[in-house]
Amino acid sequence: METIKEQYDIIIVGTGAAGLFAALQFPQDKDILMITRDAVENSDSYLAQGGICMLKSPDDYESYYEDTMRAGRYENNPDSVRIMIKSSPGIIKELLELGVDFERDEQGELLFTREGAHSTFRILYHQDVTGKEITSRLIERIRERSNIHVFEYTTMLDWMIEENDSGSKRKKRCEGIVLRCQDQTVKAVKSRMTILATGGLGGLFAHSTNFRHITGDSIALALEHGIEIQDINYIQIHPTTLYSNKGGRSFLISESVRGEGAILLNPKGKRFVDELLPRDVVATAIREEMEKFNSPYVYLSLKHMPKEEIMHRFPNIYERCLEEGYDLSREPIPITPAQHYFMGGVKTDTEAQTGCDRLYAVGETGCNGVHGANRLASNSLLESLVFAKRAVQKIEREFDQVKISEKEIDLGSYQDAEALQKKYKRLVMDEIKRKDEDFYVKWCNNEN
Ligand SMILES: Cc1cc2nc3c(=O)[nH]c(=O)nc-3n(C[C@H](O)[C@H](O)[C@H](O)COP(=O)(O)OP(=O)(O)OC[C@H]3O[C@@H](n4cnc5c(N)ncnc54)[C@H](O)[C@@H]3O)c2cc1C
Repeated sequence: METIKEQYDIIIVGTGAAGLFAALQFPQDKDILMITRDAVENSDSYLAQGGICMLKSPDDYESYYEDTMRAGRYENNPDSVRIMIKSSPGIIKELLELGVDFERDEQGELLFTREGAHSTFRILYHQDVTGKEITSRLIERIRERSNIHVFEYTTMLDWMIEENDSGSKRKKRCEGIVLRCQDQTVKAVKSRMTILATGGLGGLFAHSTNFRHITGDSIALALEHGIEIQDINYIQIHPTTLYSNKGGRSFLISESVRGEGAILLNPKGKRFVDELLPRDVVATAIREEMEKFNSPYVYLSLKHMPKEEIMHRFPNIYERCLEEGYDLSREPIPITPAQHYFMGGVKTDTEAQTGCDRLYAVGETGCNGVHGANRLASNSLLESLVFAKRAVQKIEREFDQVKISEKEIDLGSYQDAEALQKKYKRLVMDEIKRKDEDFYVKWCNNEN
């Protein structure tokens, strides 16, 4: 059985869309370690239902830009937004070449859907399992590459950080990571470059659509090592997850269900909000309505849509609701808001470079300001891929100037996994509270 070596050219932490796409961008002479804390397909990317945005024609540029900025309350980094939108046709072309299948019409032209706060149809999709389609194809391609070594159930515990003496403007550099292997042994692994693709922080919340093992570890480590983070309190609450009292990950009822005309009803059967307003507005309206009626949920109705159409368009959602005892084609379903997406992250530039040399952050873990205060639906898979590619381009330019460190580190302090996880959680939660007590009280006070 293959074991983890002491050093690699590149370490990528996380096997979601961002990590996988980054790995595939490297030439095949790079020796790459990929680790994930769980099974390889257990990433939030795999769960994405709605789709992935694309600039479908140059005419749509202004409108797409404006929709993204408006959703982000104009706090977005305009450069990041411009780069993401302009790169989108190229990224989608690459996905198609990697074997990803999106819905097409009878003439074979790509079909587009629409979600909340988009002024037009510009989202590519694969039934209601777009993330599964994208990540499965990327995993297949990764398995064809002998230079990419994937280790499941392997957890990043720390970064090997040194003071920088290279004359760089960044004061620190990353020389590798400390990790816990599947057999629970703790190892230090060195690399020339490290890419963080560890996703968001939903696992820290009692109600979240995210996998429970995705717990903002890179954010905690950045706080621990004094590496700059950005917008830690910009956390998106998804308005519509299926209400259940069984615990575990909350099941998302995609925005595209509202995009296709589903309406929200209070316990008296009355509509109370425009369902296509931005997510934070809709989530707050639902929370207020729940408080008004002292109810843990409100209802979502798709009764206007024929059953066959629901089963064709939303087969996964339909099935899951049936498992919970609700027939989406016949009755409104109970829904409640839950933590869903993290707009903030380890601060990066538009090439995913963090404030630490040799350390990059891509996907939901990184924050280049593309989403501003609030993410526009279906922009996140796209931005994960766009900036993963840019990170690799920069790494390729700088790779030859970097040497593997010879320094050894003491692994004694990493043995108590539970204490470490608690400490990291506290670091993140305290920082959210410090930055935005209102948000903390409203949405985090039921944290695990
Ligand atoms: C239910 C749901 C539906 C969504 N729908 C859409 C959609 O329709 N369109 C869209 O654009 N976006 C959607 N999103 C958001 C989108 O899926 C994610 O933002 C995006 O895929 C993030 O990708 P990522 O690669 O950054 O992280 P993820 O896909 O979350 O992957 C994170 C990886 O990091 C690993 N990891 C974490 N911590 C550690 C650690 N300490 N050590 C080792 N490994 C670690 C995890 O195991 C995982 O492999 C949705 C999200 C959810 C939860």
